[in-house]
Amino acid sequence: MRKNDRISACGRTINYEIIYSKKRKKAAILVRPDMKVEFRAPQGLSADTIRGMVEGKARWIFKKLEWFEENKLPDQKKQYCEGEIYLYLGREYPLRITLTNNVKRPLAFFKDSELMVEIPENTSEDQVSFPVKKAVWNFYSKCAEEEVEKLLKIYSKKLEVTTPVFKVKHQNKRWGSCSAKNILRINFQLIMAPPRQLEYVVVHELCHIKEKNHSARFWKLVRELMPDYEEHRNNLKKEGWKYVL
Ligand SMILES: [Zn+2]
Repeated sequence: MRKNDRISACGRTINYEIIYSKKRKKAAILVRPDMKVEFRAPQGLSADTIRGMVEGKARWIFKKLEWFEENKLPDQKKQYCEGEIYLYLGREYPLRITLTNNVKRPLAFFKDSELMVEIPENTSEDQVSFPVKKAVWNFYSKCAEEEVEKLLKIYSKKLEVTTPVFKVKHQNKRWGSCSAKNILRINFQLIMAPPRQLEYVVVHELCHIKEKNHSARFWKLVRELMPDYEEHRNNLKKEGWKYVL
């Protein structure tokens, strides 16, 4: 569950989003590089208690916000190092790197809410990030392909078109496209987004099979397939900067 709230401190306002989680035991405040303040709360923590905690941390929050304002990193790339947080279908997983004799090639998978990467033991320490990156990219591409295929099957039926040929790959600054020959291209990094945002992009590109431009007729089709698409479209605009590997 999510809720927006705000407090005043030192003559300024702090807007923040409360994100409740059943699993969480301890509260935490997060200032994100996009200048958003998140309050991660265990289920049941009252809004008043949270306000008090945000107030107590106000100075720290302002300092963080100022730092991000001065050090804006629009395209922050991943470092592929231990403990770094990776998004997958909108959820966050810490990266765990294991050097092991069990693999000949780098391998990525999920285990116990962590993104595990196993790389051959003979990899030298200063060269770890490259095979880790390769493993994560391969794994995410494969997962993205499966998700997109599933969605295309469902929505092609609804739109009454044959399931189109599609490619899932890395596209710079683009989430998807539909060619004149109706070949769909979807950016694999969308697998980092919450499922409904990925779904929106797939629906959007699929509707271009019937309507090539962004006419009122096009948006009507999108709405028929996904009545709440606007919410997910806006969220993708707001949060898309995070889906970078
Ligand atoms: Zn379009």
